Amino acid sequence: MGLTASKITALLKILRKRYPVVKTQLDHDTPFQLLIATILSAQCTDKQVNKVSKKLFEKYPDPKGLGHAALGDIKRIIYSTGFYNNKAKNIKACALDIFNRYDSVVPEDISKLVTLPGVGRKTANVVLSAAFGHQAIVVDTHVLRISKRLGLTDKTDPTKIEYELMEIIPENSWSDLSLQLIYFGREICDAKKPLCEACPLFKICLAKGKK
Ligand code: SF4
Repeated sequence: MGLTASKITALLKILRKRYPVVKTQLDHDTPFQLLIATILSAQCTDKQVNKVSKKLFEKYPDPKGLGHAALGDIKRIIYSTGFYNNKAKNIKACALDIFNRYDSVVPEDISKLVTLPGVGRKTANVVLSAAFGHQAIVVDTHVLRISKRLGLTDKTDPTKIEYELMEIIPENSWSDLSLQLIYFGREICDAKKPLCEACPLFKICLAKGKK
């Protein structure tokens, strides 16, 4: 059994009160840079990505530059973000694709974004919400874990969770809720040691630290 509508309303209110202003922590000047930074953020902290992306974007700020950069140089710059072989291949191919197919303009359309190398629904939704101002649910590891603990979903597949949350959460809260859950996951509802005694959602939560 999931959360009732009144509990969902309470959840949104509590999170809005705790995190009234939320925005992506990934530094960027353009939608393209946010897209690349988001690919780099897999299995890496935003802080480390920001250090690396500063150097990367100083040298290769746009699709043309990054798409034609030497793969070895990209690997050298992004090495410390982990999984650098795959990430380097993906960001180079992604940049080249945007340069060739979209005249260097990141498409504002999820069906086109997910055809770019290294871009899945999570990355596409980050770009749609943070760079273009669309409402979008971003199912990262925090959103997935907390949605299950709270009882917002019983699914484990991120795409199914995204669609389920779109059904039960009012559309004007999609982007903020995603970021609020990410902040909340880092601060309170940790994967290994959730701080249930100090949790403002304790009364609502179905797991209360049991999962
Ligand atoms: S009560 Fe515990 S498991 Fe539930 S949301 Fe709060 S910290 Fe997470």
